[in-house]
Amino acid sequence: MKIFADYHTHTIYSDGKTTIKENVEQAIKIGLKTIGISDHGYKHMGFGVKYENYPKIREEIDRLQEKYKQIKILMGIECNILDDKGNIDIDDKIISYMDYVMAGYHFGSTPKNLRGAKNHMFNYIKPLKNYEIDYNTRALINAMKNNDLFILTHPGDKGNVDIEEIAKVAEQTGTVLEINERHHNLTYEQLLKVKHFDIKYVISSDAHKKDAIGVVDDAIKRAVKAEIPINRIINVI
Ligand SMILES: [Zn+2]
Ligand SMILES: [Zn+2]
Repeated sequence: MKIFADYHTHTIYSDGKTTIKENVEQAIKIGLKTIGISDHGYKHMGFGVKYENYPKIREEIDRLQEKYKQIKILMGIECNILDDKGNIDIDDKIISYMDYVMAGYHFGSTPKNLRGAKNHMFNYIKPLKNYEIDYNTRALINAMKNNDLFILTHPGDKGNVDIEEIAKVAEQTGTVLEINERHHNLTYEQLLKVKHFDIKYVISSDAHKKDAIGVVDDAIKRAVKAEIPINRIINVI
């Protein structure tokens, strides 16, 4: 099994170490047909993209696409899921620049209210992390229901969720669930729980430097071990 598209890569516009150009050139070098540039949404306190940089990223990608015809270069975003209503850090202006939208839960996102801050805290303190399963599950489910998400990134990472409830909704909304190399979610155990749902998966590197692009050995291993049919994974041959 081999991926031909990596939709989840970061650059120096958020917390990545390499530039868009370096990521694209690496993707060409390893033979990918599609590369997605998907930096963190602007409401990540540590390293969200600066709001004013979205048009700049779009221009840079369009310029590189002119130069490199052998690969499809897409502009995406990894939004932060901000609360249990499923709000994410996006608006119509940002959407106008995007080829696709992904979202996931991150500790570093700006909480919308006190309850959100408490959610971060409980998720952060390992012995308390099961307290928040209902809230976390609601947050991911409503993010899928209330936004046009292409991919839900690393479901269950940093905050425990009821993965079957999430798969049930992904089946209705058509949201693709991610098997992430860097964060280990979906895990093998999660895959076993959701594989009977009629859902699609994507395997991503979540690369934060160019050398990690397309490197997804562990994610593939999990998918193979769980016997996920290849035709359910949107980016493999
Ligand atoms: Zn993430
Ligand atoms: Zn990421």
